[in-house]
Formats: sequence, structure tokens, C-alpha cells
Amino acid sequence: MTDAANAAALRPELPPARLWLGGEWVEPEGGRTFTSENPATEEVLCEVASASAADVDRAVAAARGALAGEWGATSARERGKLLWRLADALEERIQDFAVVETLDNGKPIFESRYVDMPSVVDCLRYYAGWADKVAGETLASSGPIGLTYTLREPVGAVGAITPWNFPLLLAAWKIAPALACGNVVIHKPASLTSLTALMLGALAAEVGFPAGVLNVLPGGGSEVGGTMVGHPGIDKIAFTGSTAVGIGIAKQAADTVKRLGLELGGKSANIVFADSDLDAAAKGAFNGIFYGKGEVCAAGSRLLVERTAHDELLEKLVARTERLQPADPLHPKTRLGALVSKEQRDSVLGYVEKGRREGAEVATGGAAAAVDGKGYFMQPTVLTGVDNAMTVAREEIFGPVLVTIPFDDAEEAVALANASVYGLAAGVWTRDVGKAHHVAARLQAGTVWINQYNWYDAGAPFGGYKQSGYGRELGRQALDYYTETKTVFVGK
Ligand code: NAD
Repeated sequence: MTDAANAAALRPELPPARLWLGGEWVEPEGGRTFTSENPATEEVLCEVASASAADVDRAVAAARGALAGEWGATSARERGKLLWRLADALEERIQDFAVVETLDNGKPIFESRYVDMPSVVDCLRYYAGWADKVAGETLASSGPIGLTYTLREPVGAVGAITPWNFPLLLAAWKIAPALACGNVVIHKPASLTSLTALMLGALAAEVGFPAGVLNVLPGGGSEVGGTMVGHPGIDKIAFTGSTAVGIGIAKQAADTVKRLGLELGGKSANIVFADSDLDAAAKGAFNGIFYGKGEVCAAGSRLLVERTAHDELLEKLVARTERLQPADPLHPKTRLGALVSKEQRDSVLGYVEKGRREGAEVATGGAAAAVDGKGYFMQPTVLTGVDNAMTVAREEIFGPVLVTIPFDDAEEAVALANASVYGLAAGVWTRDVGKAHHVAARLQAGTVWINQYNWYDAGAPFGGYKQSGYGRELGRQALDYYTETKTVFVGK
């Protein structure tokens, strides 16, 4: 038996139906819970505590207490050590975290064990390294001023609100830089996938983070998330989720001029030129949409293919897609898991139906699937005969559904790629180096992959143009969003 299958047999302990608040497990005010379901089996996994507005008040008090007390007095170097210790502790428990992520989200254990969790560890270590290197500067003085310098200070209390597709990873993208810079965090995970976030909160306490530095409040979007956005004790909101919710948050945050980072939706174009290595491009297009069940903000969900290569590429892509079967997410060989919920699966199927009605053809897939008669699975799907104005080419489907659109030259490819309200990512496949860079420069997207797709790095900034959001996560850039700069003028 492999490690993964072993761990699946020995199901790890799930967190209790409590909030992680002020360094301990506490009952939510009102004692409400909600059910967490395994989308692959439709079985109840556990009950999860549902926080209320009063719990947000309690968490803010605990977090601000830490900021004014022990955490505020912790040196930058010590913060770095704590983050590094958290990474080590997570690495030791990596199998448990991966299995819980898979049970909660439906993603293949292959992804949670070998991509998501190692990437969380990597992100924690990357920002552990930054903790004692975030510094102000001494500036040239003018006039009667003797000395001018800047200080980089933590923003304060950060409210992190995250989606369900990469539950722990997208939380780490916020928590790691926030803590490295000396902030405190109140994290609201998505209701569908709260478990690993709760486990991380408890693990942070185990490795020595003071009580109140990281609080985890599962619960309703508007009740918990909305209260956080409006809360005067929270200084910044770091949000990843849908554009619709992000717009609402931006409006609400305006009332208190709250600092805001928004990582929103996408409809990313993956552009294949006829001069590319078509086998590599077909594989890249396949991974670009079917990795993570297509529930990936940066998924290459619009495949733009140079007309002369369209049919050949499609043939290769469909052949590969037909070998991909949805299967038990806990099996180590599975590469396509269950969609996160019945609601999400039905929404994706609704898009396929809409595509059909608007004239698209289903080249492969298009239907729901089940494993052992259960689960919210779906066949990997490719739609052809699509033009960029159709709903399936404009709206984020957030599932394993790819649309292909032909183009005639680079000019048209760039125009089609940019004809979207979104601007999160894009891919370019060509053997012509000059063309690759020229096209990359003209794409309105926060990330461009050339002859690859879906690669991320803790050191490389990630974020969106246009309605895909503002601010950047990861890399050195993220530090700017978790610090305030104070200028100090010293008279002679
Ligand atoms: P969602 O917007 O429905 O929810 C995201 C989070 O916001 C959840 O925790 C939810 O409970 C909370 N929320 C809901 N209503 C709220 C409100 N009124 N105030 C405050 N918080 C509220 O998104 P989702 O369905 O969980 O995730 C899918 C979406 O996330 C997709 O659109 C996807 O593109 C996007 N996403 C973006 C990125 C990125 O980095 N740009 C990464 C992953 C996912």
C-alpha cells in the first residue's frame, strides 16, 4: 500500500466543532454548527463551528491584544524563526493535512500531498526568510531637516477571507507574509473547506506563536466575512474569491478606507500558435484546464488555437482527455477528483448546457459522473465551435470545461485574449522566441506562462489586471501590502 492509501485507511483526526480563537478551541457564540461533506462520497465528514458577528468581536479583541502585547514585542528575527518552525511542523504532519484537504475538497490526494501542502510549506519558509529583511531606508535630506528616514510597520489586524479551491494554500499566501511583517490575522475560510485552516491555527500555537496571533473563524460569508470587512478593529482585508463578492467587499471597505487586496476570478486565454510543439501544447492545454478539476482561478479555460493547427491540436487534446477518468480522490493514481459540491457541479453542467444552446459542440465529455454511484464528479469536457462572445467564453465556469476558439494571426490572438473583463493569467505556446515575448508583453494579465502553464512560485508575484483584482500576493511585492510606510523627518 502506498503512503497515500495508508493514510486514507487511517483517517486523520479532524478538528473539533470549535473556533480557533485566542490560542484555544472555543465554542461559537450561539453554539451553531454546519456540516462538512465529502464531495466524493456525499458522506458527512464532521460538524464545523459557525462563527457569528460576536465571535468576530472576540477574535479582534484577541488579535489586537496580541499585537499590543507579546507579539508586538517579538523581534522580526524571532517571527521568522516561528514561521520556519511552523513550516517544519506542517511538513511532519503533511500527510494528515493532505488527506483532510482531499476529504474536504474532493481534489486528488496526488495534488494535495505533492503540490498544495509542499507549496504551503514553501510559502511559509519563503516569508520566514523575509521577516528580518523588511526595512525602511534613509533618504536624502533637504532644507533645514537633518535626517529623513522611513519605517516599515505592520498594518495591524489583517482579515483573511479565502475560497474553497486551494483552501490552505491561498490562506498561506496571506498568513505567511502578514505574520512575517508582524501583523495579526483573523482568517475566515470558505464554509465548504474550513478544516485544514483550523488545523493550521492549532499548529501555529504548538510551535510557539502567541495566543491571538492567528485566529480561525469558519462561518457564513456575509455574517463572518461581511462583519470583518466592516469591523473598525480590522485594518486590512486580504480577499480571494469571486469577482461578484470582491466588488461588494470593495464597496463596503470604502466606508472605512480599509486596506484591501483582491484576488478575483479569471477567464484566462491559453494561446497556441501553429509553430509550437503541438504535443507539448496539447499537454499544457490539458493540464491548464483539468488540473485542480478546473476549479482554478488561473485555469487556461479559453484555448485560442491558430486556425491551421486547430484540428490537429484538438485531436491530440481530445485523445488525452478521454483517457482522464474521474476517480476516488484518495487513490494515489487519481488525477481528476470530485467537484467541491453538488451546487458547483450543477453550475458547471448548467454552463455546458448554455454553451450547447448557444451553438457550441461537445467534442468530449459534457455530463455528470459518479464513482461507486456517488459523488459530484464530472466528465472532463471540451467545447468547440465557440466564439468569444458566447457565455461559455466570457464567464468563469470554474470546472473541468475547456472552450476552443480559432484565430488567424498574433494580432487577433492578443485581441481575443484581452477581450475579457478578467486579466488574471495567460499562456503562449510557440517556438518563435520573439513572438512569445512580443505577445506576452501585450497580454493584459498578471501572469503569462510561455510554453508551460499553471506554474507558481512563492517568490513570484501573482495577481490580476482588470476585474481579476488588485494588489499582488507572493514575492517581495506582497510585503508592500502588509506594511505601512512611515516617513520620519528629524530637525537639526
Ligand atoms: P466566493 O466569492 O463565493 O467566496 C470566497 C470567500 O468569501 C468565502 O470564504 C466566502 O464565505 C466569503 N464571502 C462570501 N460572501 C461574502 C461577503 N459578503 N463578505 C465577505 N466575505 C464573503 O468564492 P468561492 O466560490 O469560494 O471561490 C471561487 C472563486 O474564487 C472563483 O471566482 C475564483 O476565480 C476565485 N479565486 C481567485 C483566485 C485568485 O488568486 N485570483 C484564487 C482562487 C479562487
